[in-house]
Amino acid sequence: MSFVPSGKHLIAGAWIGSQTTFLSEPAHGPAHAFAVGTPDLVDQAVQAAEAAFATYSQTTQAARAEFLDRIADEIDLRATAITTIGTQETGLPEARLNGERGRTTGQLRLFAQHIRQGSHLDLRHDAALPDRLPLPRPELRLMQRPIGPVAVFGASNFPLAFSTAGGDTAAALAAGCPVVVKGHGAHPGTAEIVAQAILAAIHHCDMPAGVFSLVQGGRRDVGQALVQHPLIKAVGFTGSLAGGRALFDLCAQRPEPIPFFGELGSVNPMFLLPAAVASRGTEIGRGWAASLTMGAGQFCTNPGIAVVLAGADSDTFVEAARLALAETGPQVMLTDGIAAAYATGAAEMARQNGVQALLQSICAPRQALPFLFTVSAADWLDNPRLAEEVFGPLGLVIVATDIAQMEQVAHRFQGQLTATLHMDSADMPLARSLLPVLERKAGRILANGFPTGVEVCDSMVHGGPYPASTNFGATSVGTLSIRRFLRPVCYQNLPEELLPQV
Ligand code: NAP
Repeated sequence: MSFVPSGKHLIAGAWIGSQTTFLSEPAHGPAHAFAVGTPDLVDQAVQAAEAAFATYSQTTQAARAEFLDRIADEIDLRATAITTIGTQETGLPEARLNGERGRTTGQLRLFAQHIRQGSHLDLRHDAALPDRLPLPRPELRLMQRPIGPVAVFGASNFPLAFSTAGGDTAAALAAGCPVVVKGHGAHPGTAEIVAQAILAAIHHCDMPAGVFSLVQGGRRDVGQALVQHPLIKAVGFTGSLAGGRALFDLCAQRPEPIPFFGELGSVNPMFLLPAAVASRGTEIGRGWAASLTMGAGQFCTNPGIAVVLAGADSDTFVEAARLALAETGPQVMLTDGIAAAYATGAAEMARQNGVQALLQSICAPRQALPFLFTVSAADWLDNPRLAEEVFGPLGLVIVATDIAQMEQVAHRFQGQLTATLHMDSADMPLARSLLPVLERKAGRILANGFPTGVEVCDSMVHGGPYPASTNFGATSVGTLSIRRFLRPVCYQNLPEELLPQV
C-alpha cells in the first residue's frame, strides 16, 4: 500500500490544510508539501481536547484499553506504508523502522494491559472510624485521576516510538488524557499516516474526536503556543538541551506553571573496571563500537564516553574499538541539521585542550562516520564542554591515572539516562564504591552491557537527574510513565455512587 501525504493537520477529526506550506526533506524519495502550523490551529486543537476530556476522562479502563489496542491494530494495518514513508523521510533502514513499529504497537498494547490491571490507580482506602477519640476519622479514598490535555512533541530520532503514537501519547491516552501532538519537521508524512491510524481507532471505538490532534510545525511559535496554552496540563518532549530548556522555561513562566517532562541529553558513561578490561578488553571494545554506531549514534542512550584506567589492558580495549569503528561505513543521519551539528560537535571536540584524535572522519552532507577521541581525566575534569553530548557516533575515552581519579570523574558527571559498569568479580570493591555515586547520576545502571536498546516493560526507567530529564521523578519509557499524566485525588466521605467508575 503506497501512501501520499495530504500535507494536512488533523484537528479533532478534521483534516485541515493551509496556503502556507513547508517542504519535507526526505533522505530519499519525493519531498511533499505540508501545511504550516499556527497558534490558532493549536488553540482549536487544545479547545477540542479540553471538550473531549469531559467524556474521555470518564471512560472505563476497559474502553481505553480497547482504544489503545485498536490504535496498534490500525498501525499494523498500515505497516508497509509506514515503513516506506518513514525510511524515506528519516533515512533509517527498513529493518529499524519495522522494529520501531513493533516497539510502538507493543507499547500501546502494554499500556492497554497495564490499565486493565488497574494498579496505576494506586487505590488507597482508609475506612471511617466514627468512634475514634478525640475525633472520628472520615472515610478516605485515594485514586489517581487524569490531569487534562497533554502536549507531546514528536522526536526526530524516533519517528514512531517517541512521536505521534509513541510512548508519551500512549501513556497519556491510557491515563485518560487527550493529546495534542506537535509534529517533528523531520518526518511529517510518517506523523500523518500514524495520525490516520489513530483517527480510524477513534471512529471504531466511538471516542470523542478531540481526544487526538496533530499540528504540523514549520514555525517556532507552534510549539511555544502549545506549551503556553492555558488548557494544556503537561508536556512530553524528547530533543535537544537548548530546545527542551527553552520550552521548560516557558512552562515554568506560565501563570499556572505545568510539568514539562523533557528528555534532553545524555552521554551515558561507561566505567571499565580493571579486571574486566584485562580479561575481555577486545570484546568490550568491539561491543562499544557496535553500540556507539547503532542508528548512526542517534540514540538518547548512546554510550558516548568510556572511562578507563591507564595501562596496556585499556590500550587493547581502545585499539579494538578504534579498529571496529574504522570499519563502519557512512550512515545517513536524520536531518541535514543534525548531520551538520554532528560535524561541528566533532570538530569542536578535536580542538579542546588535551584531546587526541584516534579516528577522524570527513562526513558527506547528511552522513555520519565515527570519530574516536581520548583525553586524560585531568584535562576532562578541567573542561565541562567535554561532558556535553555530541549527537552521533562519536566516542571519547577518558583515561584516569588511578581509582581515585576514576571516582572523581564519576562525581563530576551531570545527570544521565544510564551509567554502565563493565566488571568482573575481582572488580566488586571498586564497583561497590562507584555505585552510590552512579545512583545519584543516572536513571538506569547497567552491568556488563550496553545501554542502547531500551526494554519497554514495568521496571524500565528512562529518565534521570537534569539534564537527562527535567523531572527526575519520572520515566518516559515503561508503564511507570503513565504516572506523569495522573494526579492523586482524595475522596473524603463521598458516596460510593459518586466515585469515578474505572
Ligand atoms: P530540537 O531542536 O530540540 O527540536 C525538538 C522539537 O522542539 C521540535 O519540534 C522543535 O520545533 C521544538 N523546539 C525546539 N526549540 C524550540 C523553541 N525554542 N521553541 C519552540 N519549539 C522548539 O531537537 P531535534 O530537532 O530533535 O534535534 C536537534 C538536536 O537535538 C540534535 O542535533 C541532538 O543534539 C539533539 N537530540 C537529542 C536527543 C536525545 O535524546 N538526547 C534526541 C533527539 C535530538 P522546530 O521543528 O520548530 O524546531
